[in-house]
Amino acid sequence: DLCYVGIDGGGSKTLAVIVDAHGHELGRGQAGSANQSSVGIEQALSSIRQAVEAAAKIAGCPAHFRSAWLGLAGIDRASDYEQFYPQLKPLAETVRLTNDAELLLSALQESVGLALIAGTGSIALGRDRHGTITRAGGWGYIIGDEGSGYSMGRQALQAAARASDGRGPQTALLQLILAAWQLSTPDDMIGQVYTQAGSTARIAALSTLVFTAARSGDQVARKIVQEAVEELVLAAMATFNALDFPEREVSIALAGGLLMNETDFRTRVVRRLRSRLALKQVALVEEPALSAALAARHISFEQSWSRP
Ligand code: BGC
Repeated sequence: DLCYVGIDGGGSKTLAVIVDAHGHELGRGQAGSANQSSVGIEQALSSIRQAVEAAAKIAGCPAHFRSAWLGLAGIDRASDYEQFYPQLKPLAETVRLTNDAELLLSALQESVGLALIAGTGSIALGRDRHGTITRAGGWGYIIGDEGSGYSMGRQALQAAARASDGRGPQTALLQLILAAWQLSTPDDMIGQVYTQAGSTARIAALSTLVFTAARSGDQVARKIVQEAVEELVLAAMATFNALDFPEREVSIALAGGLLMNETDFRTRVVRRLRSRLALKQVALVEEPALSAALAARHISFEQSWSRP
């Protein structure tokens, strides 16, 4: 009858999973983005509450859990932590609040290795055997998130605009975007990105079009994909180089829609990493929220902000 909740709050969706003391799943709930840098604190908190309430209803758990682990995109600085923690503390007896990439580490032996997310946003995070944690990328959609869905979607829109003007090469992306958004002219893209609250999730969703166009040989799309691969490898390597991994041996945990759903893309990223590192284990974390719920069963201390 003890309930533990794990919450993965990403740039497009928030998933809450509840397990019992044996690790059996009791319920799950989903809501919109919990990234406060893109949707604001109020909306982020409301997504979290909505996902947890939906899961608790199915699980038949009281609203106050034994322990909770929340890994949220947009928890990037001590001040983000300090602002959120008091709001989330009532959720459970023990609440651990971290960035979403930290959830992935629990998939690795002794939580040592690299974590790489490419979803709506992107980030690399590493933890070595001394417990030192470092991160690279994950600066949010305006100044960071290279290799993410948002970044690829934005580049697709930019390439479409350039093609439409004749400032850039023709690309299948233009027609694909118009069709996906049901627009009749390229100018209509303006209304979609600036007035319809140009949500990062919506732009990130265009990344699937980039993969489709790249597969059918579109050069512009292929370049966007290639760059994304390189950016993710760059971020992972930066965290690796900042930490202590003897013999260049390291494990890596991957998550996020791009790395989970786009198999060729993931293969390319992993292959590039393998050419530089001795990869021991490559863990695909399909559901960081479930990993968090399982790990929450063993959280017995209050965690404070621990970023370097
Ligand atoms: C956020 C990070 C997050 C990353 C992956 C970025 O947009 O700024 O906090 O870790 O996305 O979800």
